[in-house]
Amino acid sequence: MSSRICANLWSQIDPPDNPMGHVTNGVHVPTFLSPHWYDLFDRHLGYGWEQRLTEPGCWDGIYAIPDQQFWAVRQGLKSQLFHLLRDRLAEQHARNHGSAAHLDRVLRLADPDNPRALTIGFARRFATYKRATLLFDNLQWLRDIVCNAQRPVIFVFAGKAHPADQPGQELIRRIAEVAKMPEFESRILLVEGYDLRLARRMVSGVDVWLNNPIHPLEASGTSGIKAAMNGVINLSVLDGWWGEGYDGENGWAIKPVTDPDPARRDREEARALYEILQDSVVPLYYDVAPHGLSPGWVAKAKRSMVSLLPRFNTERMLGEYIERYYRPAAGQWHRHAQAGFAPTRDLARWKKRVREHWSGVRVRRIDHSPARIRFGESLRFELAVGIDGLEPADLRVELLFGCPAGAGAAPAQQHLEMHRERRIEGDEQLYSIELQPDMCGRIGYRFRVYPHHPLLTHPYEMGMMLWL
Ligand SMILES: *Cc1c(COP(=O)(O)O)cnc(C)c1O
Repeated sequence: MSSRICANLWSQIDPPDNPMGHVTNGVHVPTFLSPHWYDLFDRHLGYGWEQRLTEPGCWDGIYAIPDQQFWAVRQGLKSQLFHLLRDRLAEQHARNHGSAAHLDRVLRLADPDNPRALTIGFARRFATYKRATLLFDNLQWLRDIVCNAQRPVIFVFAGKAHPADQPGQELIRRIAEVAKMPEFESRILLVEGYDLRLARRMVSGVDVWLNNPIHPLEASGTSGIKAAMNGVINLSVLDGWWGEGYDGENGWAIKPVTDPDPARRDREEARALYEILQDSVVPLYYDVAPHGLSPGWVAKAKRSMVSLLPRFNTERMLGEYIERYYRPAAGQWHRHAQAGFAPTRDLARWKKRVREHWSGVRVRRIDHSPARIRFGESLRFELAVGIDGLEPADLRVELLFGCPAGAGAAPAQQHLEMHRERRIEGDEQLYSIELQPDMCGRIGYRFRVYPHHPLLTHPYEMGMMLWL
């Protein structure tokens, strides 16, 4: 995705080949994993699990945690969140001169002593692209989902908008308005004063973490990762980190709708959200066995932890930054710093020369290879490359050769460098390659020419490439 977004910086390079790479975000486990889990992890993952965060095998031990104990931790975390909600909402209520009876009604379901109501959290900046009010697209449908007396659902909203962000403030006003409707009292809670303490309780205390940004605007999103590591299950648009983390079983996904009309897109995605809540989330949560917990729910929460914890943590992230970027960058520094940075000056002169002459570089085919050959026969390709004022060593000429992408198979492609034989005439140089294909069937090939210098940080960083 990053390479596609930045494709215009290297306009002649296919986006997957351009120098733009990526490292997926991670979350600092010691900061965001609740201490409530530590005892169970010590027992089932083995002491020292903090040092084995990126080992996938390390986390399989989570499956061995007895469901009852797993559930007890989850309920404890929810109870802790409900305590904080009661304090915060009581303050809010006092500030707004609400009656005690009204406060009791608002907090009726958020009972710390019996935290059994399914609780769904949405807490983040109220930037408009995060669509905090998508859930309110169809209030009648929402009412049907949350107002079932046997299967109550609480939505907790918290977050901030920048004071100058009018549309963001408008979202908060709308949530407050819906939360005040009598039928949503106690089921939609808006907590003011979003801070780190509330954020940490929210991402560990709710049952489901909701995120419904407009695809593809979520660069990563990290709150859902914090939630997942605490056994909270994600329900999110397949965007940002969830596009990489969702495996079909470890949570729920809203597939982005591609519709040029934003209102229609929102309506379609809201419908998907309601359907997932109504058909999957609520029934699974309330499918309780006699001992009071839902085995299916616990299995999904465990799968979410096992599949996501080893990947979306800062250990893995930092390791990738070092291997892919910091270490190669340090190596480049050493190569450049030789002899008082003489190589850097060389490279700068070379780049200037290449930019001046690139528009004069041309390529044409001059061989007459047959379109069909028999197995075992060899092929010879010849190109005439006009190099304008450049040297042959400034360019690399390649044959890309292989099977086109077939059903389910990625293209198997070889990149073969073509050899310069001699000057033909003027600035034209003859490049050739001979090969004996060791495969049968339809075979595709293309030629390409691009500037080459051993000191380039990335082979295609000049963004220049001619195709034939
Ligand atoms: C993690 C975190 C965020 C990031 O939230 P996203 O919506 O996932 O980007 C924001 N605020 C706080 C307080 C956080 O801890």
